[in-house]
Amino acid sequence: MTEPGKCESPWGPLAVTDAHVHFFSHHFFSTLAAQKLGLTLEAAAAQTGWILPPVEPEKLGAEWAHELDRHGVFASALIASVPGDEGSVIAAARAIPGRFLPFAMVNPRSLKEGNLPETFSEIRVACLFPAMHLYSIQDDCARPVFEWAQRNHRAVFVHCGVLSVGVRKKLGLASNFDMRFSNPIDLHAVALRYPEVPIIVPHFGAGYFREALMVADLCPNVYLDTSSSNHWMRYQSAHLDLRQVFRRALDVVGAKRLLFGTDSSFFPRGWQHAIFDEQARAVYELGASAADARAIFGENLLRILAP
Ligand SMILES: [Zn+2]
Repeated sequence: MTEPGKCESPWGPLAVTDAHVHFFSHHFFSTLAAQKLGLTLEAAAAQTGWILPPVEPEKLGAEWAHELDRHGVFASALIASVPGDEGSVIAAARAIPGRFLPFAMVNPRSLKEGNLPETFSEIRVACLFPAMHLYSIQDDCARPVFEWAQRNHRAVFVHCGVLSVGVRKKLGLASNFDMRFSNPIDLHAVALRYPEVPIIVPHFGAGYFREALMVADLCPNVYLDTSSSNHWMRYQSAHLDLRQVFRRALDVVGAKRLLFGTDSSFFPRGWQHAIFDEQARAVYELGASAADARAIFGENLLRILAP
């Protein structure tokens, strides 16, 4: 029997905080379904194989809290995954205090007068997807987001590398993204300009592993999230497995700047325990200490997002 709030791990019971969980709220789901003319929510749910999320975000939050309990996960990020859905993650985090860290996607190209909405006062991490919203992270439009983070001691998540949104594919929606805007190298000057702002690059750079390591090596405020199945490893010229990825990341970036994540998102799949097991095993096999494991699998995220 594992202690409450702890996951069974090779180091023994471990307090785990997941840095990458999408909150696919009712608002998120209806926004996507509306992009497909004439598609009802029920039909969209059938097409995706998801359980239709409850209308009230508090209820979906309670489902996630129950899911985290079931797996012994201490806390998690909740990412509002369409612009304008920050209210959903804020409502869920308020309803279940101490369990969730509200993250929210923002499209800086559509900010009114270049300011983040008032509601962002309760958001801990602003999430940018330059390839999705077609701008360079170096463009002036992105500045207010970093300035908000600097003023309020918040972090910025910048999606780099390969971006494919599974639910868009399942609904038959076009994804007119542009990968020119996805190279972590573009973050270099930005990370230097805002040295106090933690910048999170998910999925080890999602194909730009070398570039993500280069930027993180030069900028101590850059963090790598370990989330998802890391299928980008297929793009490497030399064969690379998860253990080698962690080895390289630990050598260059160190245990204090890796943030464990799963990229969990919908029900019935729920929390992706297998990703935790796989990553924990890889890190353990490299001989990482229990202190390093505590850092990677939870403490780092809580430290950089401490109020
Ligand atoms: Zn994700």
